[in-house]
Amino acid sequence: MYNELVAFIRQLFDTDEFIPLHEPRFWGKEKEYVNDAIESTFVSSVGRYVDKFEEDFANVLGVDKAVACVNGTAALHTALVLADVQRDDEVITQPLTFIATCNAISYQGAHPVFVDVERDTLGLSPNALQEFLSINTELKNDVCVNKTTNRKIKAVVTMHTFGHPCRIDEIAEVCREWNITLIEDAAECLGSDYKGKPLGTFGDIAAFSFNGNKIMTTGGGGVIIAHNPEITKRAKHITTTAKIPHPYEFTHDEIGYNYRMPNLNAALGCAQLEQLEFFLKSKRDLADKYRSYFCDTREIFIDEIEEAKSNFWLNAILLKDRDERDQFLEYINSKGIMVRPIWTLMNKLSMFEDCQTGDLSNSQFLEDRVVNIPSSVRFQ
Ligand SMILES: *Cc1c(COP(=O)(O)O)cnc(C)c1O
Repeated sequence: MYNELVAFIRQLFDTDEFIPLHEPRFWGKEKEYVNDAIESTFVSSVGRYVDKFEEDFANVLGVDKAVACVNGTAALHTALVLADVQRDDEVITQPLTFIATCNAISYQGAHPVFVDVERDTLGLSPNALQEFLSINTELKNDVCVNKTTNRKIKAVVTMHTFGHPCRIDEIAEVCREWNITLIEDAAECLGSDYKGKPLGTFGDIAAFSFNGNKIMTTGGGGVIIAHNPEITKRAKHITTTAKIPHPYEFTHDEIGYNYRMPNLNAALGCAQLEQLEFFLKSKRDLADKYRSYFCDTREIFIDEIEEAKSNFWLNAILLKDRDERDQFLEYINSKGIMVRPIWTLMNKLSMFEDCQTGDLSNSQFLEDRVVNIPSSVRFQ
């Protein structure tokens, strides 16, 4: 029944072999830069590629400074530390996300609270957020406090699913009203814009990831950006074991982390960043082809909303119901084409099943129906 789709995807990727969901492309100067890093002997967290990667990345986003980390989860964890999230605080996030978002919250001993997403953006709903806060919380001395648990709500972490911008300007507005720090989990959305502004620059702090499956990779890696230069400075400090810079003395002024990106990874990243525009073009072209294909099928192509420019990191479609989803996954995977369901909702995992939630019907609707289809960059 999906024979036509199988043929279409095979023609897109021009192969009879297994088609993965997303594989990295090393079609630039990756080997040259990584070799150069090895020759320099600077392979760990100090080196000129780390500095260059931070500068180049900041330029892409149009911000003053970026702080490179070992991975996206570490960047998120650091963002929560920077937002002063402490043990037994609460952090509002969406249940429809990758586990790293909630793990990072847990590393601080804080509790996730789940608020619903929107069906069109797959990201946190500003209306659901406003409603949750109005019903469940109050401002006490300018601190948002949960009336049920009496805990402080220190941060909102919103995530731009598969690169599709959520209504981040409205979310930022709600966070301002309730005096809550806004963190963007920007792991999936490098290169996406909303209302002409890059994602990652709307929140107080943002965390990016360059894992091997993301739109560009450093092998493993992440970046933190922040509005306030003091916060960026502190991000560098605590990810560098909180060492006071000195040519030879070792002095540290707080508990820090060994979270800096190694120079080897940054070398790979510098070469990948040079190709980001090409990657984005290729992905938009693929999304255009999928959009046309799904125009006259039962499946619905998940598209960018008005005023949003998605990086189309992973293309996704919406199926009729969970049964149809399961049949789709079984059949297409059996044909050597990798397709994958969206994540199991975080509030269903044993670690988070006791967490407070709002009404999550959109998240449940999407969990039952959304699947990802092959999305690698095509053609050299
Ligand atoms: C990939 C990803 C992360 C984590 O990044 P790593 O670099 O793998 O640690 C965090 N959040 C989301 C939504 C992601 O997709």
